[in-house]
Amino acid sequence: MTGGLSAQDLGVFDDLPGQDAVVAQLRRAAAGAAALLAGQQPGGGAREGRPPRTGQQSAMTHAWLFTGPPGSGRSVAARAFAAALLCGDADGDGNAGGCGECASCRQVLAGTHADLLLVRPQGLSYGVKQTRDLVLRAAGKPTGGRWHVVLFEDADRCTEQAANALLKAIEEPAPRTVWLLCAPSAEDLVPTIRSRCRVVTLVVPSSDAVAQVLTDRDGIEPARALAAARAAQGHIGRARRLATDASAAKRRADVLRVPSAVTSLGPALTAAASLVRTAEEEAKAVTEELDEPEREALRRAFGEGSSGKGVAKAMRGMAGAMKDLEDRQKSRATRVKRDTLDQALLELALFYRDILMLQLGADTELANPESDLRKLASSSTPEATLRRLQAIMHCRELLTLNVAPLLAVEEMALSLSEG
Ligand SMILES: [Zn+2]
Repeated sequence: MTGGLSAQDLGVFDDLPGQDAVVAQLRRAAAGAAALLAGQQPGGGAREGRPPRTGQQSAMTHAWLFTGPPGSGRSVAARAFAAALLCGDADGDGNAGGCGECASCRQVLAGTHADLLLVRPQGLSYGVKQTRDLVLRAAGKPTGGRWHVVLFEDADRCTEQAANALLKAIEEPAPRTVWLLCAPSAEDLVPTIRSRCRVVTLVVPSSDAVAQVLTDRDGIEPARALAAARAAQGHIGRARRLATDASAAKRRADVLRVPSAVTSLGPALTAAASLVRTAEEEAKAVTEELDEPEREALRRAFGEGSSGKGVAKAMRGMAGAMKDLEDRQKSRATRVKRDTLDQALLELALFYRDILMLQLGADTELANPESDLRKLASSSTPEATLRRLQAIMHCRELLTLNVAPLLAVEEMALSLSEG
């Protein structure tokens, strides 16, 4: 290990390379939370007011906002913090919780702990009805006697009404409920919510830190780990996938063939079609894996296959629930498709950024091997590269405006092909 602390010392905070400040903040908060619990009378029961807080206890608060660029580990940090709060070993030896080994830690990491509510918006937005249900459930007493933790990923997908419902819950918190909201940046949430949360800011980890984790934890050979870390630009999950999943690596290679393929009109249109198709295939693979088990679970919940009185009625109820589920799955499929294509466009943009850096002779870490870039860099100008980068960004913008993907990508590919 390169850092000061060994992996074992960090327990559940182990998978956050390059986030030392965040880990220190969360460990202090977890220690404060344990001190708060220890200061309260055993046996629980309603209490008038709250005990005065010591400095250590004030490191803890009931609403948190985890921010950071995609892949920096927002939800990993939030999950680790949840484990630290619920850890069975929390106050055993004066250490902050989050041993990573007790039953409670394991359940939190697996997402099965009874006092952990995991929220992952599957569609483009998260509605007010779902949020009200969530607030109700979150107000319940923790079964394990510690905290009731709500981990809300992509909280920025809340609709305006949903955000209002959430705000009320955060303004008047249940005594043992802790809200962990995740969003790309603090500005993605309305100011009223933001101002009531303590903000945890994750940074983009260095490629070296990411590569180190891939080598130490996943046993990936160092050179390969570093190449994947650079290609993923600090996104640890993506780096791991590129290093271990051959089909993900192949899709990336396909995307990066575009710059040398778009020599004229015909090849540009072909490249555009294949870019869109590749993204669709990847999105399909992701959603299909999720869809069928969900439908299956719903059928089981309604007792499909059994007979007797009431079954016909239940089956009619199932049709409605199935329709709801399919609508949600459809909305998720749209999002995954959009995200996947956007990911491909970002790869492409990064490739041209590397070319620009070479053309300008800038001393920057490149995401792609220099040997892949040299030919294109020497056969064009920085101005042309900039124009191409703009074409890619314009295409991304069109896609957020719901322009048909193939049209937007074709327009981009034609711009890329112009000298
Ligand atoms: Zn534990």
